[in-house]
Amino acid sequence: MRKAGIAIHGGAGTILRSSLSPEKEQQYTSALREALNAGYSILRAGGSALDAVETAIGNLEDCPLFNAGRGSVYNNEGGHEMDASIMTGAGFGAGAVALIRNVKNPISLARAVMEKSEHVFLCGAGAEQFARNMNLPFEGDDYFNTAFRFEQWQEALKSSGTFLDHNIGANGNANTAQHDKKFGTVGAVALDINGNLAAGTSTGGMTNKKFGRVGDSPIIGAGTYANNNTCAISCTGHGELFIRSVVAYDVSCLMEYKGLTLAEACHEVVMKKLVAIGGEGGLIAIDRHGNIQMPFNSEGMYRAMKNGSDELIAIYK
Ligand code: ASP
Repeated sequence: MRKAGIAIHGGAGTILRSSLSPEKEQQYTSALREALNAGYSILRAGGSALDAVETAIGNLEDCPLFNAGRGSVYNNEGGHEMDASIMTGAGFGAGAVALIRNVKNPISLARAVMEKSEHVFLCGAGAEQFARNMNLPFEGDDYFNTAFRFEQWQEALKSSGTFLDHNIGANGNANTAQHDKKFGTVGAVALDINGNLAAGTSTGGMTNKKFGRVGDSPIIGAGTYANNNTCAISCTGHGELFIRSVVAYDVSCLMEYKGLTLAEACHEVVMKKLVAIGGEGGLIAIDRHGNIQMPFNSEGMYRAMKNGSDELIAIYK
């Protein structure tokens, strides 16, 4: 029997031990553990990698600590536009949504696009209409209007910048963060006992992003990718640079065409190629043997993994 495994992330950025209170650290750790266990219990019971990924991400989307679903950041018009994607390594099935509003769980909508439409990628009003047709739950604006996110957006407006949510400080400057205010994009990757891989990513994007901006998270090959012959990947970081670097597919290609191991491929892309163009962030990855990698080139990344008896929940370097 194969060794089933799962890894999740809650975003990467300037996350320093010195600035995170023990209480906050505890909150993140508990939220990560809950999502990890929700996904892993599906795998342990013989369930699919796809179900594990959707469940773990749905759990993180419901938690206001993270920049996805309920905790999504504000765009420059004071609204929330969410992006998500999911992919199965079996048969290259993929589904993605972008610029959606009020959908409670964007990852479930991405999965519905994959399984119940003839398309891969739906955006905006059309994606929302499809969610209604699929009877997926919606929430009113109040659900997404968290006071903290609003404050964060007001600070970003002062400097007219666009920020990774975990890199914005109370003064709106990148990398001068109030570290109790760092939350992030979420993602999950998994391998089930049948040898199927799956990956998914969900985000509110970057704080104060332009209305209509789409990052890497919903783009298959950039923010999310899965191939049963190589690996499953979910990214977090500065989306524009991750799109240009086609990060998730690049890791898979290095394994497929160059014969690199998962660890070598991740190192090449995250620590060399992304660093060379200033692409801050990281990714989580699992290969077809159940090996897990969680590299990042930022100060920290909310992350967790479980693979048989191995378990890790970590935030800092
Ligand atoms: N990659 C996401 C985006 O650019 C942001 C993040 O990972 O926090 O939309």
